[in-house]
Amino acid sequence: MNTGFYTNPIYHTHNTGAHPENASRLRAIEQHLETEGVLSRLQTRSGRPAEPHEVNLLHTRKHIDRVEDAASGGVAMLDTPECVVSSGTYEAALHAVGAVLDAVVEVSDRQLDNAFCAVRPPGHHAERDHAMGFCFFNNIALAAEFLAREFGYSRIAIVDFDVHHGNGTQHLFEERPDVLFISTHQDPRTCYPGTGFAKEQGTGQGTGYTVNVPLASGTEDEEYLHHFRTMVLPALEDYQPQFMLVSAGFDAHRDDPLASLNLTERSYREVSHALVQIAEEHAGGRLVSLLEGGYDLRALSTSVREHVSVLMGEEA
Ligand SMILES: [Zn+2]
Repeated sequence: MNTGFYTNPIYHTHNTGAHPENASRLRAIEQHLETEGVLSRLQTRSGRPAEPHEVNLLHTRKHIDRVEDAASGGVAMLDTPECVVSSGTYEAALHAVGAVLDAVVEVSDRQLDNAFCAVRPPGHHAERDHAMGFCFFNNIALAAEFLAREFGYSRIAIVDFDVHHGNGTQHLFEERPDVLFISTHQDPRTCYPGTGFAKEQGTGQGTGYTVNVPLASGTEDEEYLHHFRTMVLPALEDYQPQFMLVSAGFDAHRDDPLASLNLTERSYREVSHALVQIAEEHAGGRLVSLLEGGYDLRALSTSVREHVSVLMGEEA
């Protein structure tokens, strides 16, 4: 497989200090892929910065200006204490969106078979008009919106396996049938951000196109994969997506310090296989995955390696 790998040193200029979401995450991933001999077999790309009008496809102009002003104004955080801001935050956030937009164009046009975007800041908690949960702009939602508007896709699936519910992504699409949002995450009663109950299934024309699969603390591979096979895969098979997008957070790993699901690399490998297979069946293989969470550097690196190896069609 011709698999793209998007990353860019400009993401390090979103300098969060001792925050768990920091630049060493991407360094650890890149270093591990290099040590394992994977990096040289990927098509590496640095991507471009998104234009503000592209971010404005889903975020309010006011929100975009607030992120820019926060970065240039030297404030320490935006909207909530966990959204730490540095002077490079706005540029890094524009580049994170731009890389993902580049990736979906390349995969849509078949210049790449699929792609993984190792970007930060992450995006799935970002709402239309505010930052949340380490996220400023919703990278994956903007990719879906771009595919719908620029390429005319009418069935785009977003699968979010980050341990936290992708509230921002859900809220941006919950009234629409052209984007199916499926999230597996730790039970919202015991985990940030407190949304993502099974009863949240979309509204209006979007009813049935939001699928939430909350999981009890302590869930291990076998139980997780059972839920994935019985709830996620049937919804994807029914939908027959034309393009598969993946919010790939690796913080459901048992070694992750921020949450309490107990997955191992095995779950990431099997889930990745299943998503690649669905993409091949229905979407001509078109799949773009992008990094969300994952805060134990070793677990993050080894899990990304499993995920990327499957995208490449290789056995680890
Ligand atoms: Zn997360």
